Amino acid sequence: MVGRGLLAGLPRLLGERCPAHAYAVIADSRVAELYGARVLAALRDAGLRALLFTFPAGEWNKTRETWTDLTDAMLAARLGRDGAVVALGGGVTGDLAGFVAATYLRGIPYVQAPTTLLAMIDASIGGKTGVDVPAGKNLVGAFHQPRHVVADIETLATLPRPHVAAGMAEAVKHAVIADAAYLEALLADAAPILARDLDALERVVTRSVAIKEEVVAADPLEGGRRQVLNFGHTIGHAVEARSGYDLLHGEAVAIGMTAEALLAEAAGVAEAGLAPRVRRALELFGLPVTIPEDLAAEDLLEAMRGDKKSREATVRFALPSRIGAMHQRADGAWTVDVDEDTILQVLASSR
Ligand code: NAD
Repeated sequence: MVGRGLLAGLPRLLGERCPAHAYAVIADSRVAELYGARVLAALRDAGLRALLFTFPAGEWNKTRETWTDLTDAMLAARLGRDGAVVALGGGVTGDLAGFVAATYLRGIPYVQAPTTLLAMIDASIGGKTGVDVPAGKNLVGAFHQPRHVVADIETLATLPRPHVAAGMAEAVKHAVIADAAYLEALLADAAPILARDLDALERVVTRSVAIKEEVVAADPLEGGRRQVLNFGHTIGHAVEARSGYDLLHGEAVAIGMTAEALLAEAAGVAEAGLAPRVRRALELFGLPVTIPEDLAAEDLLEAMRGDKKSREATVRFALPSRIGAMHQRADGAWTVDVDEDTILQVLASSR
């Protein structure tokens, strides 16, 4: 559900879509400060039992330790199997709270209430939950579908500009994988989007949600076509993790998409000229497109070998063939194996 002022209607939505004896509202420190009291008051005014559980904001807190703290606090508060979770916040909160819901007392229902552009258009949809571990991003988790996703566009009014840009990386990804006309619309709307014009942002959320929903609904457990959503993420995750989470997720994905578009051309699956178009679109939103100098190509390759999307010694990528279409192999697979020499060359030239 996408719209303005939806958080005020959350109690009614929870009653309809996710009835429970008590709700654990999980939010990071920043979102708790901005919206926690308001959401809690709305739930309690409607006669619902609600408790707020918080953790310090930041990707580096999307860990097993935070999962431990949250689940222990919920157990101490005696939240039972008739309870439910509300994930209020960005993608970090959604992934963590979703994983808490997936595992707490062997699984309780949850609702996603995303408050970042990135979470609205991507992270809150599709049921992937989990935490980062020293070996890499999102390597421990579960598929657990939310009962409902409520994206209140008004919350984007407080989102800092770098996070708006980071969200746009995933919007550009949606356009590249599925809809060339959408890329043109995003480019035309760039100024109002970056100025946080809520009408322009609502257009982005509406179209991106439709693309993500269509892909995920057809292949919920990522047996095939859902892999196209990983475009930019194999290199992006390696860059994000090896930067020590200095880069925002969306920024790392922008770097990853730029490099993987080059890779698509080098591997001969994409038409010439794809990579500069992807790069220009991301630059328009002020996103980084080059790999930081201090990240050695060999280290990034090593991180990719450990990425869960790779099998054995090969590195697999979901690559576009042109703007709006992903490459599909003759045998129906949506990923391409690229040899390590080609990967190293592209990593070296993406500086
Ligand atoms: P985030 O959750 O860390 O949010 C970014 C920052 O914005 C945080 O500091 C947060 O406190 C703050 N914030 C949130 N809402 C705000 C608001 N309305 N106003 C002001 N500040 C606000 O990061 P993110 O970019 O939303 O999400 C990134 C995460 O999402 C990554 O961990 C990534 O792996 C994950 N992700 C998951 C999926 C999936 O399918 N599960 C898909 C894409 C990304």
